[in-house]
Amino acid sequence: MTDRSSDTAERKMQFLFALRSRGVTDKRVLEAMEKIDRAPFVRGYFSARAYDDTPLPIACGQTISQPSVVGMMTQALRISPRDTVLEIGTGSGYQAAILSLLARRVYTVDRHKRLVREASELFRELDLTNITCRSVDGSFGLPEQAPFDRIIVTAAAEDPPGPLLAQLKIGGIMVLPVGQSDAVQSLIRVTRHETGFDYDELMPVRFVPLLEGLGRDEG
Ligand code: SAH
Repeated sequence: MTDRSSDTAERKMQFLFALRSRGVTDKRVLEAMEKIDRAPFVRGYFSARAYDDTPLPIACGQTISQPSVVGMMTQALRISPRDTVLEIGTGSGYQAAILSLLARRVYTVDRHKRLVREASELFRELDLTNITCRSVDGSFGLPEQAPFDRIIVTAAAEDPPGPLLAQLKIGGIMVLPVGQSDAVQSLIRVTRHETGFDYDELMPVRFVPLLEGLGRDEG
């Protein structure tokens, strides 16, 4: 083993250790996060920090989320292998890639066309064939594929968007950050029952805001 590859192996070990120590204990989630290398999702200058447990900048002024938060959100979704999952906020595609190992089918949408294009290319290169990526305003969900077993939102809204609640199956779970964009937000889990919704507060988080409309893509 060269110095460089043993260094990478060491950093990957620390990455998994950080996940566990921050509460990601679900075995299937940890296995998926071990399999999906974060490095290709972090392009350019910041790729050297791919295995740090920290959010990092990506194109279009967005961020790839902190790995332990990705782990906690994935764990909170309680995905079963037959589930169809909708993700709002494709960003780098990292969260969707992890979901794709746990679910039957993943739909992921982003308001930036460029992010959708780059993430789709990566999914193809990594042979993740059960992910469909679209560029739409995710506040309205994806009505043509609804209802979903699970929905994950990776940008913060003040309240859970009505169309997303409506597109959740009975028995379905949605995990999302809610709160003002410039303040600390709460990660919540919404579970749909026959007669309504249950809300659990999970942890404080900080996400970029869920914005209306499609993005103006620079470059
Ligand atoms: N899940 C991503 C991180 C997402 S960052 C990852 O794993 O890398 C949040 C993303 O939400 C950004 O890419 C932003 O463009 C997107 N976003 C914000 N508002 C949106 C909306 N209304 N519809 C779709 N995507 C939105």
